[in-house]
Amino acid sequence: MPHTSVQDRTSRIPDLIRNFRLEDLLTTRHHSRDFTFYRSDYLLVRVKLLALLFGIATPLWLPVDMWLLPAQNLTEMTWLRAITGILFLLLAFLGTPRRSLGRARGALFALIAIPAVFYLGSRIILGPEEMQGALVGYTFLPFVLIGGGALFPLTFAESAVMMAVVYLAVFTTGWFFETWMTLPFLGTVWLMALLSGIALWAQSAQLHMLLGLYRQATRDPLTGMFNRRALFQQARAELARARRHDRPVSMLLLDIDRFKRINDQQGHPVGDAVLRHLAGILQRETRTEDLLGRYGGEEFMVLATDSDAAGAAALAERIRAAVARDPAPAPEGPLTYTVSIGVGTGLAGDSLEDLLKRADEALLEAKECGRDRVVSQATPGSMLETASL
Ligand code: GH3
Ligand code: MG
Ligand code: MG
Repeated sequence: MPHTSVQDRTSRIPDLIRNFRLEDLLTTRHHSRDFTFYRSDYLLVRVKLLALLFGIATPLWLPVDMWLLPAQNLTEMTWLRAITGILFLLLAFLGTPRRSLGRARGALFALIAIPAVFYLGSRIILGPEEMQGALVGYTFLPFVLIGGGALFPLTFAESAVMMAVVYLAVFTTGWFFETWMTLPFLGTVWLMALLSGIALWAQSAQLHMLLGLYRQATRDPLTGMFNRRALFQQARAELARARRHDRPVSMLLLDIDRFKRINDQQGHPVGDAVLRHLAGILQRETRTEDLLGRYGGEEFMVLATDSDAAGAAALAERIRAAVARDPAPAPEGPLTYTVSIGVGTGLAGDSLEDLLKRADEALLEAKECGRDRVVSQATPGSMLETASL
């Protein structure tokens, strides 16, 4: 019988389904910090675009109001439209210098709350449903708001809050006009509930897809660490932050010693296990604020924030020592391996490339000096070997 590994059997199931985790869709608790930042940006851009569209569309309805509304309501409605339009435009253009999930949620809340209050105001001004013709364009607003929510990748919790705002506006009108036990009102709520279900599905599906694709695009599948592209993107942002706050930043480049030999002698699956093992050590030995990633084949990068030359050299030495004393699991017994580490410390105005070059030169020096050691280069040309065999 042909041998089938777990990998083979599951490989026909698309990654997006295999990696389904319900908790990812309920709240943001299990989302990574970088994904949350990415989604916040995504939400904000979409909110601002929609706010701009609503800001333009709100006054454009005025001619229809003039045609349909009784003269006594027209002035109030014009004011209501003007204020609503201005609020939408403020939402579209007000700057958000620091983008965060809190701001994105606030903006999204405003995007729903502004038209919900507009709906409430218009219904109070225009009176109960019996005014039929005059309510054209107003009664369907709650449905538009619930359906429009489907444009955003939201968690269940976020979605529930957004929808609650619309339900609150509708129930308030029901209570105000004492219509909430009537069949038309129940019909409205029933239709809203149906639309809510569809919107919820669309929101979760978008979130699921965004999260899945984001993870695939930014993570190295073997170690789960940032891949090179995401690593560089995050590193540039980190360097900019360090420069803004005038904080030191250091880069560690790690390379496994004689890794080709491990692959050649023990096979690639053992080589892979060693890579995963090293990833675990790096995660353990660094702080959560440090940036970690797989730079290339058997090379890893650590960007140590708030670390000067001495701090970074100490961190590198701690990692080197941890690797040397903690063998990787292998079928033929624990496998001892070593790493060489080059450390480059940032100077004011350094680019990522400058820092990389410095760390890379130090790494080369570590290899040339016999491997299993840390070499630091704090300033161009000044090498300092801080640990040796
Ligand atoms: P040195 O001490 O000079 O760094 O020697 P080395 O053998 O580690 O360096 P070299 O660059 O010659 O070899 C790197 C090897 O890493 C070659 C490549 O096959 C292996 N490699 C790269 N990516 C992976 C991977 O994902 N899994 C495995 N198992 N091996 C990999
Ligand atoms: Mg290498
Ligand atoms: Mg190597």
